[in-house]
Amino acid sequence: MTTVRTRFAPSPTGFIHLGNIRSALYPWAFARASGGVFVLRIEDTDLERSSQAAVDVIIEGMKWLGLDHDEGPFYQMQRMDRYKVVLADLVAAGHVYPCYMSMVELDALRERQMANKEKPRYDGTWRPEAGKTLPPVPEGVKPVLRFKNPQEGVVAWDDKVKGLIEISNHELDDLVIARPDGTPTYNFCVVVDDIDMAITHVVRGDDHVNNTPRQINIFRALGQEPPVYAHLPTVMTETVDEQGEKHVSKMSKRNGAKPVTQYRDEGYLPDAMVNYLARLGWSHGDDEIFSREQFLEWFNLDHLGRSAAQFDDAKLRWVNAQHLKAMDDSALALLVAEQLGKQGITADDRLPRICGLFKDRCDTTVALAGWAAAFYADVVPTEAERAQHVTEAIRPALDTLAEKLAAIAWDKASIAAAIKETIAAHGIKMPQLAMPVRVLVMGTAQTPSLDAVLELQNKQTILDRLQNR
Ligand code: GLU
Repeated sequence: MTTVRTRFAPSPTGFIHLGNIRSALYPWAFARASGGVFVLRIEDTDLERSSQAAVDVIIEGMKWLGLDHDEGPFYQMQRMDRYKVVLADLVAAGHVYPCYMSMVELDALRERQMANKEKPRYDGTWRPEAGKTLPPVPEGVKPVLRFKNPQEGVVAWDDKVKGLIEISNHELDDLVIARPDGTPTYNFCVVVDDIDMAITHVVRGDDHVNNTPRQINIFRALGQEPPVYAHLPTVMTETVDEQGEKHVSKMSKRNGAKPVTQYRDEGYLPDAMVNYLARLGWSHGDDEIFSREQFLEWFNLDHLGRSAAQFDDAKLRWVNAQHLKAMDDSALALLVAEQLGKQGITADDRLPRICGLFKDRCDTTVALAGWAAAFYADVVPTEAERAQHVTEAIRPALDTLAEKLAAIAWDKASIAAAIKETIAAHGIKMPQLAMPVRVLVMGTAQTPSLDAVLELQNKQTILDRLQNR
């Protein structure tokens, strides 16, 4: 059996967002699930719009998500010599011809066709045929090279997402495959790359469906059979306009899509992202939450969805929260320590237990770091919470608690006993004491169980904070 070889071939124009990187996830997963090879290819031939910064975000984003590639990155701009060699082969084999039609003539042709309600297409003026006399070659004009598309028959492929697609060759005109300066054009480079990189399965966005029949014809002209294609439906996103009206449109940076790496900075977990993106266009029964390992075990190209998926921020947060809860506390602590580092806080070996205690109420590592910060930096309760909970009436009980805490060994059972005794001594209920203590110690009245919170803090810090009324 041939080895599965897939690729991700992003154009580094603008910063890669979730909609784009999903086109990396599936070919990566398919390669991993089938013991294959995953290739990264950077399609940087649009010199004006491509940038190194965009390449960096692609590579950083893939690395963060664990979408490791086996070969590449290959840059198309570095392969120009290779394309020219293959182009020369194609010319030698008679699949290509020079076309001297000027822009003015092409525009006039298009206008005539539009006026006749025909689809604008190149009319084959310069296509050599037996017995046909070509127009005289204009002087001083460098021609483009056009590919002799077959004129009969259909191009068909069994798309793994869309099913059988058949395009009549009558619908395809002769594509320009080299510009007047000899540089090859997009569709040609893609085919040469897919052949050279021995790609067996092309998984990409369905904005390329229109290119596929043209690419297949070039494959065949080069004596190769095309790979299997899977064209993924677009990822949509909802936006709200100035009038407050909702619109659903293709995810793009123009409608607020964020660079992938921003999710890392906002505290999302790579496994949660993989889980969420996996479900955005693929399913395994009703399974919503799964690990990377389960995903790779289940993934194949047979259950890709046909309809456009819609990105849902709230759902992503929910998926992240599920993964965060399930994550090992020590592993989580490493990520939270990074977030704390950004606030200038150096954590210590309490952090895994702090994560364990607070993770249930957080949906990102940023939120978790927000809680953890209370253990390493000063807390400042809001005046409103202070006024509501730290009342004159409760001060004597806070004094008693502080005295008792000062005297005990610092463990959860002793702390719990001190709290209980204080409540009993003052004839009050648990929340009456717990709320003000939380406000003073954590800066907010809503926290997990008080004895567990206090235990993780250093005793002197607690005593200081209880005095700070
Ligand atoms: N460079 C193309 C893009 O970013 C992908 C081409 C392909 O996968 O064949 O849309």
